[in-house]
Amino acid sequence: MDAGLKRDLEAKVYAGERLSREDGIALYESDDLTWLGRLAHHKRTEMNGDRVMFNVNRHLNLTNVCSASCAYCSFQRKPGEKDAYTMRIDEAVAKAKEMEDEQLTELHIVNGLHPSLPWRYYPKVLRELKAALPNVKLKCFTATEVQWFEKISGLPASEILDELMDAGLESLTGGGAEIFDWEVRQHIVDHNCHWEDWSRIHRLAHEKGMKTPATMLYGHIEEPRHRVDHVMRLRELQDETGGFAVFIPLRYQHDFVDSQDGKVRNRIQERTTMAAPAESLKTFAVSRLMFDNVPHLKNFWVMHGLSVAQLSLNFGADDLDGSVVEYKITHDADSYGTPSTMHRDDLLNLIWDAGFQPVERNTRYEVVREYEKPISLAERRSEPQKVWA
Ligand code: SF4
Repeated sequence: MDAGLKRDLEAKVYAGERLSREDGIALYESDDLTWLGRLAHHKRTEMNGDRVMFNVNRHLNLTNVCSASCAYCSFQRKPGEKDAYTMRIDEAVAKAKEMEDEQLTELHIVNGLHPSLPWRYYPKVLRELKAALPNVKLKCFTATEVQWFEKISGLPASEILDELMDAGLESLTGGGAEIFDWEVRQHIVDHNCHWEDWSRIHRLAHEKGMKTPATMLYGHIEEPRHRVDHVMRLRELQDETGGFAVFIPLRYQHDFVDSQDGKVRNRIQERTTMAAPAESLKTFAVSRLMFDNVPHLKNFWVMHGLSVAQLSLNFGADDLDGSVVEYKITHDADSYGTPSTMHRDDLLNLIWDAGFQPVERNTRYEVVREYEKPISLAERRSEPQKVWA
């Protein structure tokens, strides 16, 4: 990058000026990762100090049966496939109850777009979950699912959200966003919920008092300009509603041969590689610098691996998410050696080792508990890290 442009961008960041679309694209063109990290760290420190938030949550998927076949998705199954499943309401409740001992504060629920489950199933399952686990907040459904509920129920999204909130819904999830640019989207998404509907549904949720997350699936066939465009759209919506609590860059992952049926479901992996760690860190840094109006930047560590997740705390991220439990119940690893579940102590050490203060939050980003301040990095250098990944 031209030294003059670098100075201009740096001056803008330190003066607290809003960065433009062109600035975002220029930042992605820089190969100076240390410089990007320093700028993003300045911004995250201004916004969130040395705190790193997390919550004790578990993920639950009621069904993997889906009417759509998004090109990057290895989760969906068609009706009748060997490992297709749909939980009865009592099964979902029993599964959630099994997690009760983990002292979870949030259940994160997303599902396939099931072709024949009636709309009534969804508020009913929320009511039963809420009755069984009254202290657990329910963060459920992508905007894509809400649009699907409109289709299967004939009701408008406003009534759907009212009923789901009455049944215990605390927040929508941020999924279904992928990349909003149509040029890219038509190659990867196979449902009808695009920017117009995604933003309509989150706007409605914000009007009803919900704080919601927003995501971006990066590192596949999109270009940096598409990531900047994605962030710009969300930033404008946030100017209007103020309802996004957090932005979550999600790293696209290749699919591996399914051990159950020998299939590879992902249809874009022939055309792309996965984002390298440096690209992930750059994406976190640029996102933090562009988003002057969304308070938190989350790393869903399951998709990045623990080392990159830890490093991202120095590139703008201030929130770590993924299933975090009280006890070591599962430690399944994917093909990259990333666990799917983490013990609370491991997560705390991961944050302290990186030089930050852990803060437990609830679904609305209110503080539940503040932990000790970290020992300085200089002192820590003489000790081995407690968590390796
Ligand atoms: S809507 Fe797309 S991403 Fe979601 S489960 Fe169905 S195929 Fe997968």
